[in-house]
Amino acid sequence: MKIRYFLLPLIIVSLMLLILDNEKTSIVNKNVISDGVEVSYPFFGNEVVDRYISNYLNKYLEEDEVFVDYDYYNDGSKYYTTFYSYVIKGNMISNNTDSFLIDMSNNTIEKTVVDYEQYDFIINSNASKDDKLVALTFDDGPNYNTNKVLNILNKYNVKATFFVLGSKIKGNEYILKKMIGQGMEIGNHTFNHLLLTRYSEEKIKEEIDKTNDMIYDATGKKALLLRPSYGSFNSKIKRTANMPIIIWDVDTLDWKYHSSIKIANRVMSKVKDGDIVLMHDIYSATANALDIIIPKLLEDGYKLVTVSELFYYKEIMLEDGKVYGYAR
Ligand code: ZN
Repeated sequence: MKIRYFLLPLIIVSLMLLILDNEKTSIVNKNVISDGVEVSYPFFGNEVVDRYISNYLNKYLEEDEVFVDYDYYNDGSKYYTTFYSYVIKGNMISNNTDSFLIDMSNNTIEKTVVDYEQYDFIINSNASKDDKLVALTFDDGPNYNTNKVLNILNKYNVKATFFVLGSKIKGNEYILKKMIGQGMEIGNHTFNHLLLTRYSEEKIKEEIDKTNDMIYDATGKKALLLRPSYGSFNSKIKRTANMPIIIWDVDTLDWKYHSSIKIANRVMSKVKDGDIVLMHDIYSATANALDIIIPKLLEDGYKLVTVSELFYYKEIMLEDGKVYGYAR
């Protein structure tokens, strides 16, 4: 069982809570470890509650590799308990969060979050924290040129992230399916490409949600990341996003320079480990630049990964409403 280091903060917080609360509760941390299974769960010393939790956790024993941790706080006899699980199956990682309200005064336990969040992301390649990693990102598509970009990425067997516009999805669903088929990540670039800082929370939410729904309908995969149009954000957008906000630290300015050589030179002169590179899949020059950039990056020892993979390998946990321009 590989320990996922990005879980460390979670574990530390859980342990701290456990230590702080130890005086006033009877909860004892129990670990069940079998092959590839690591489960951490609270023991309440109450038959009904403990049996319920044990049954809930049993489903994970079927999995290849799983890590379950928990967190709780209590208010009198009421314990608000949340379980976090990371299931690794082949090259997919699923993340689950389930919450329960345990009332020790009348021996009841109920699931409080019924439609819990679940998402999967693909781990394409084997990389580690010490590798030189770069995430190429492509905004404003899909359009007819996106296929060309996908074909070049495929030729070199590298992965990238596409921040798509909801308004461009209709009729181009097959392109999104192709992205997923090639192990690419799809992020949300809003619906209409508005300067969101000028709009109401309601409008911002609509722009994000509509696009998430369309990505899910086209691919069966939930977008995990938001790149607001123009990379602009303020506290209103952060509050409304409900997703990590991904910007960049290498801007190719490909929308300005329609020259593959200029675009490639900008990338190669600026790139470093952990970078997120901004490009646009809708331009022909950008596609041509990839034929220069990708071989050079590979030659320099970089691994090209999706944004979720970049943060996963760099052991940085992405949080909703926070802004990230690189993984260091
Ligand atoms: Zn854009």
